[in-house]
Amino acid sequence: MARIELTDIRKVYAGGVEAVKGVSLSIDDGEFVVLVGPSGCGKSTLLRMVAGLESITSGTVRIGERVVNELEPAERDIAMVFQNYALYPHMSVRQNLEYGLKNRKMAMPEIARRVDEAAGILEIAPLLDRKPGQLSGGQRQRVAMGRAIVREPAAFLFDEPLSNLDAKLRVQMRAEIRRLQRRLATTSLYVTHDQLEAMTLADQLVVMNGGRIEQAGRPMDLYERP
Ligand code: ADP
Ligand code: ADP
Repeated sequence: MARIELTDIRKVYAGGVEAVKGVSLSIDDGEFVVLVGPSGCGKSTLLRMVAGLESITSGTVRIGERVVNELEPAERDIAMVFQNYALYPHMSVRQNLEYGLKNRKMAMPEIARRVDEAAGILEIAPLLDRKPGQLSGGQRQRVAMGRAIVREPAAFLFDEPLSNLDAKLRVQMRAEIRRLQRRLATTSLYVTHDQLEAMTLADQLVVMNGGRIEQAGRPMDLYERP
C-alpha cells in the first residue's frame, strides 16, 4: 500500500489540446478515490499519466516516497484494470493470471500461491482451465481484476472497468469491487462517468470538468444538502 500524490499535473497533447490543466490530488494509504466528470474532461488522460501510459507535460506523481514520473511503467508497482479486459485469448485463465508474474521471474511456488489466493477471493477457481472465450463478460472482468490482484501492487488504477457490462452485471460487479476494497484495502484511483458507481465506491469523490478538479470530498458531503 502507498500514498499517491499528484502535484500540479498538466497534459498538452501533441495537437495542442490541453486535456489536464494543473491537477493536484492526494490519495491516502488504502483510500479509494473515484474520479468522475463528463466525457472529455480529462479523466482517462490523468489516470494514464499516473499509470505511465501517457507522458506528463509538467508536474509530479509520487507513489509512497518515490517520484515515479521518470520510472518505466513496469517499475511503478501499480496495476491497472481496463474496461476491455486485456486478457490473452489463447491462454487459459490460470496462464493469464500467471503471465505477468512469470515475466517478473517470480518463483513458481509464489506464483501458484498468489494465483490460488486471487482465484479464491474472486471465486474463479473453477474457471482456471478455461480460455477467455469460454467465459461470460462478468467472469472475464473478474479474471482481469485477478491479473491486477496477483501482482499485489502498491496501488490499483481502474479505467471504467464496468462500462462494457450490462446493467445487471454492473450492479453485481460494483458490489464485488466494494467487497474487494474492504478486504484488500489497497490504495485505488477509479475512473467512471457513472454517478451511482462513484457514490457507492468512493471514500473520496473527485469531480473533474474541463481538465480541472471542480470539487472533491466525501460523497455524502458533495451530494447531500441539509
Ligand atoms: P475523459 O476520460 O474524461 O473522457 P480524456 O482524458 O479521454 O477525457 O480526454 C480529454 C481531452 O483530451 C479531450 O478533449 C480529448 O479529445 C483529448 N484527447 C484524449 N486523448 C488524446 C490524444 N491521444 N491526442 C489528442 N487529444 C486527446
Ligand atoms: P502484466 O504484469 O500485466 O503482464 P507487463 O509486466 O507486461 O504486464 O506490463 C508492464 C506494465 O504495463 C504494467 O506495470 C502496467 O502498468 C502496464 N499494463 C499494461 N497492460 C496491463 C494489464 N492488462 N494489467 C496490468 N498492467 C498492465
